Amino acid sequence: MRERFDYLVIGSGVAGLSFALRAAQHGTVAVITKKTSAESNTNYAQGGIAAVMDPDDRVEDHVRDTLVAGAGLCDPDVVRMVVTEGPARIRELMDWGARFDRGEDGGLHLGREGGHSADRIVHHEDMTGREVERALLTAVREHANITLYEHHFAVNLLTQHQLGQRVDADDLRCFGAYVLDEATGRIETFLARVTLLAAGGAGQVYLHTTNPTVATGDGIAMAYRARARVANMEFMQFHPTSLYLPDADFGGRAFLITEAVRGDGGILRNLGGERFMPDYDDRHELAPRDIVARAIDDQMKKRGEPHVWLDISHKPADAILAHFPNIHETLLTHGIDMTRDPIPVVPAAHYTCGGVLVDMEGRTSIAGLFACGEVTCSGLHGANRLASNSLLEALVYSWRALDPAVAYAQSHEYEDAIPDWDETGAENATEWVLVRHNRQELRTVMQNYVGIVRSTPRLERAARRIELIHRETEEFYQRTTLNSELCELRNLAAIAHLIVGCAMRRTESRGLHFMADYPDPDPSQAYDTVYAPADVA
Ligand SMILES: Cc1cc2nc3c(=O)[nH]c(=O)nc-3n(C[C@H](O)[C@H](O)[C@H](O)COP(=O)(O)OP(=O)(O)OC[C@H]3O[C@@H](n4cnc5c(N)ncnc54)[C@H](O)[C@@H]3O)c2cc1C
Repeated sequence: MRERFDYLVIGSGVAGLSFALRAAQHGTVAVITKKTSAESNTNYAQGGIAAVMDPDDRVEDHVRDTLVAGAGLCDPDVVRMVVTEGPARIRELMDWGARFDRGEDGGLHLGREGGHSADRIVHHEDMTGREVERALLTAVREHANITLYEHHFAVNLLTQHQLGQRVDADDLRCFGAYVLDEATGRIETFLARVTLLAAGGAGQVYLHTTNPTVATGDGIAMAYRARARVANMEFMQFHPTSLYLPDADFGGRAFLITEAVRGDGGILRNLGGERFMPDYDDRHELAPRDIVARAIDDQMKKRGEPHVWLDISHKPADAILAHFPNIHETLLTHGIDMTRDPIPVVPAAHYTCGGVLVDMEGRTSIAGLFACGEVTCSGLHGANRLASNSLLEALVYSWRALDPAVAYAQSHEYEDAIPDWDETGAENATEWVLVRHNRQELRTVMQNYVGIVRSTPRLERAARRIELIHRETEEFYQRTTLNSELCELRNLAAIAHLIVGCAMRRTESRGLHFMADYPDPDPSQAYDTVYAPADVA
């Protein structure tokens, strides 16, 4: 089957849906998403969206906080642009129907999070992402120009490669994507004038992650295979505080205890009951995430303990209930009352700072392919993302990308010469369990050797194992009828390869990338780690 749309949007999180709503004013839009439409990192965002909404707050301060967290790798022009345009994008989100908490004076209630010097987190209780997703999906479903395809898995981007042409990386163009329809098992050709990659991050490449199972880095892997520029994959943010309950199942992800619990006065203690953050940083529990995650990792390793405690029980119970109703209720089902008990927590992979390199208007290095949201490396986060800056980035970039995307769509035709997917030679394999085993093994390797603290021998060990898994997966892929499990494994192997490759190139410690054998920053390495297309030709 062949479909034709002016705009093909891959992903139904905040980035994809907000772009779709804008693009639908200019033409037909297909939004494809690999599971049900709400399943995304967006849906699980708790804390909120950072923006200068208080008259006493200043753009300068938000810019400075972002630059400090980014450890010398943020693009200052990008940071200023995103911070300046953020408030207007939040108002637009409210126009689309998103409801945010209000204070007693009727104005927006603004929370505080680690690394921010002011109260600037717009939120909906502790379920901001769910509210954003609800509002955007409602608006998308009502729009006549948008067709939403659930259970449709983007497999590969279409470029001149599918036409059998070899072109220089600088001359690449994107014509849409091959998409697996989960219901029929068939691979369909989606042709588009403009393709917008909004497929989110890659937290699932680690064993412990706050990301839902959809976050397998498919967008980054697809773009990499298509020879787009990809950068800064070594910077994976570990959230310091995910719930530690080894026997609890939260659908393949760790349950997050939001930053805002520390913002509201939560204290971290080791299992001996000692508060340890003052030994690591002057900002104590409100230090940026990388510092808090490393401190927890250090305590757990030094003391041989499986977790630490996060305790907010000294605060009034009604304030805890008002601000964290969802977390409180979830913990209660596991026998923990956070108004009285400390919460067992460990760090977990949380946010992919690197990704597909984009310019200030969301253009990738492939013409006709735009990207926004967590799938990208835009220059906003640098070596470490400041809390609640990611929903903001997605909103701003989906707006910035619109004008150039519309101009591109209006001046380019569909590429009808793209052939349909060729299934000849593919067979139904009987060894699917191997795919599951390889996925588990890959995630374990990443957790053990490429986690919060890295070193050259650990990275080399990981690289050897990833190479083997990559080879086995490619062999399987070449001879088997495709399904999404195999596609995800293939993408995860590519992501692991990119993370280790970028990490090995950076022989220093900076932001989220900590090398035990190079523990200090090296000013001469204050640049992005870019995988140029020549690397993958
Ligand atoms: C637990 C948690 C809490 C967070 N809290 C906050 C917060 O408080 N503030 C903040 O700013 N950020 C927060 N973040 C980060 C933030 O939620 C994400 O960075 C942001 O939502 C990313 O939006 P996105 O649209 O780029 O990607 P996502 O929301 O992840 O959407 C990606 C979409 O792409 C689809 N997809 C992926 N691969 C394919 C494929 N091959 N084919 C078709 N579809 C595909 C997915 O199914 C999904 O619909 C949090 C993240 C998590 C996990």
